[in-house]
Amino acid sequence: MTSARNPSQPSSAGPRAVRILPVPLGDALVVCFLAGYRGILTHYNRSGPLYCPGPDKCPQSTHRSRVIFKGYAPVAWWRKDLRLWQPDVLEVTERLEEQIRGRELRGEVWSLSRQGDGSKNDAVVGEFCQRFPAEKVAPCFEILSVVQRCYHCPDLRFGATNPLPAPVVLPMVEGEAPALPLDRPPPASVPASQEEIDALRAKMRRTFGLNRNRDQGDSPTHGKNGQAKPLPSE
Ligand SMILES: [Zn+2]
Repeated sequence: MTSARNPSQPSSAGPRAVRILPVPLGDALVVCFLAGYRGILTHYNRSGPLYCPGPDKCPQSTHRSRVIFKGYAPVAWWRKDLRLWQPDVLEVTERLEEQIRGRELRGEVWSLSRQGDGSKNDAVVGEFCQRFPAEKVAPCFEILSVVQRCYHCPDLRFGATNPLPAPVVLPMVEGEAPALPLDRPPPASVPASQEEIDALRAKMRRTFGLNRNRDQGDSPTHGKNGQAKPLPSE
């Protein structure tokens, strides 16, 4: 996929071809939505993402793989270096779509970042910043041809929705603290009597043949020549 992995380019403010803009690793990407997003379903293979035209038209071997939703929205993103808004097509991941679903997006400014350890599958997290009044927002532009070019598929059509169900979001609740095992005092230990210790030592000597010869290099049950020797008489 020929998407813009480094959105800091180009360095001039002249006209340029609009590109697909994934949320990059590193610094947050600040975008102003020019319109809402539209979606397609995709698969992923070794060469990258593939457009899924639906189970009737998608090759079976491809359609067996996982279906991934991707949304696309016309945005202008803030070029801090140029102090200009650059038009591009934002790639909306499944996780980001859940965060912006159902909103009137035109004019909304969001800060987007990729959380995690730097892998390309890290979740995109969005934070709403502000809403610009309509007269301050750049005009919208058609994104279909940009996405068709990206997937090399002139038949690509929007209209898919994110197949993942909405996340279940619940607040934390107050309640009584649980009695954890670590909170309980340890059970009282009963010290062994001297008689019990002596009896245990005697039993170990009978069982394992422990004696002083061990300190002199003998094995507990065999002499220096490896011959068996009688157990202690205890
Ligand atoms: Zn498919």
